[in-house]
Amino acid sequence: MNADHTAQLRLLDLQAADTALAQLNHRRLTLPELAALAEREQRGVDLHNEAIDVETRLADIAEDQRRLENEVDTVRTRETRDEQRLQGGGLPAKELEGLQHELTSLKRRQSTLEDELLEVMEQREEAENSLAGINAKRAALEAETADLSAARDAAFGEIDTAAAGRTAERALVASELPDDLLALYEKAREHSGGVGAAMLRQRRCEGCHIELSGSELASVRAAEPDVVVRCDNCRRILVRTAESGL
Ligand SMILES: [Zn+2]
Repeated sequence: MNADHTAQLRLLDLQAADTALAQLNHRRLTLPELAALAEREQRGVDLHNEAIDVETRLADIAEDQRRLENEVDTVRTRETRDEQRLQGGGLPAKELEGLQHELTSLKRRQSTLEDELLEVMEQREEAENSLAGINAKRAALEAETADLSAARDAAFGEIDTAAAGRTAERALVASELPDDLLALYEKAREHSGGVGAAMLRQRRCEGCHIELSGSELASVRAAEPDVVVRCDNCRRILVRTAESGL
């Protein structure tokens, strides 16, 4: 294929724009903020689950507390009733003995229930503290997430602006190139990891970094300036400049 040598040189500008666009895209996909946000999101899910666990525990504790308090009330009512009967006097000895016996066991029961209630209230305090801790972590996480999102959006904005500039530049260069040369470049680029045109610098292909052999150099030297030369090794378009060492 033949193409004006100036057009061949412009391929290097096109390649520079394409390389810059690929780098910008890579930067967009690998922004550290994205990984940091994904990690925060996972932590958010974990904290949410932890909070649900503690809330469930608190509901169970509240249920225990209610049950114990009701039982304490029942025992107390019965104690009061028994004490009133005792104070009323005039009871047969056997009934008196039974009543005193019941009062003793009611007091014992009362004491056990109070201990249990105390324990439940301690559990409740512990769970409430734990929930407060989780909520504080969630609030801090939310603030971090907001900061990271803002940083990500700022980086996206920067990248998009740079990409828009490069895209316009690329379109301009591409519009100047003959269609067949552009098509060859696109094809080579597709097959060579995004690099379709490379400079021949000091007898080395800048695409694959292999130095041209003596016979390859001889044929490149012999080729007219408007002949489109390709690297024998990587098949990229080799652009000859004053630095080619020919
Ligand atoms: Zn090469």
